[in-house]
Amino acid sequence: MDNVEIVSDDLYVVKQEMRPGWYCCVTLVFGEKNIGVVDTGYENTPLDRVFPLILEKGRRLDDVNLIVNTHRDGDHVRGNAVFKERTGATIAIHELEQEAVPTADAKLRDGDQVRLGDRSFTVIHTPGHRPGSICLIDPVGKTLIVGDSVCGEREDLIRMDKEVYIASLRKLLQVEADTMIMSHPFQPAGKSTLVGGEVNEMIRASIEVAKKLVCSSKAGTGAK
Ligand SMILES: [Zn+2]
Repeated sequence: MDNVEIVSDDLYVVKQEMRPGWYCCVTLVFGEKNIGVVDTGYENTPLDRVFPLILEKGRRLDDVNLIVNTHRDGDHVRGNAVFKERTGATIAIHELEQEAVPTADAKLRDGDQVRLGDRSFTVIHTPGHRPGSICLIDPVGKTLIVGDSVCGEREDLIRMDKEVYIASLRKLLQVEADTMIMSHPFQPAGKSTLVGGEVNEMIRASIEVAKKLVCSSKAGTGAK
């Protein structure tokens, strides 16, 4: 399937086109017994893209036991209801997002551990795009899943105070990651899965974009 990227033996990224050249990602972690999912795409994404992959791998839909939403936006949560109905999985989201996502039934906080497939991930609270945006780090596999918390040149997606966003990105620079999975192919990277030096390069580039906005807003208000 050309809309599936195999990141490693157990980690797959399913890409759902949003418009030509632009897509959102659903990440799957295949464990021996359980399958973990990060974000669920649109209403049609589970049936069109994700369930066929799970079945093609000889697995059952009810192997999916835990779904984590990185934040409240539609392209990350609108597949929740179908997932819930067909897999019975628990859906977890940061406590600041839960009210906006009624399909979620478990709350996450910074530092919480979640088990996706056979990997343990730690929740990192990274507000900036949304108040309850989170990233997930697997410290063993050095894999970082960031949702829309790192959004490169898309300044319009920094919906909160730029300094809050920059502080979140600085937190991510402290994390040891060989692989970073973003939910969209943000520029300047132009792809959603980054490896090696590309990871910190993209985080730094995103910090620079936000810093320029801070400077121009200060200039705009006449501050010295
Ligand atoms: Zn998004």
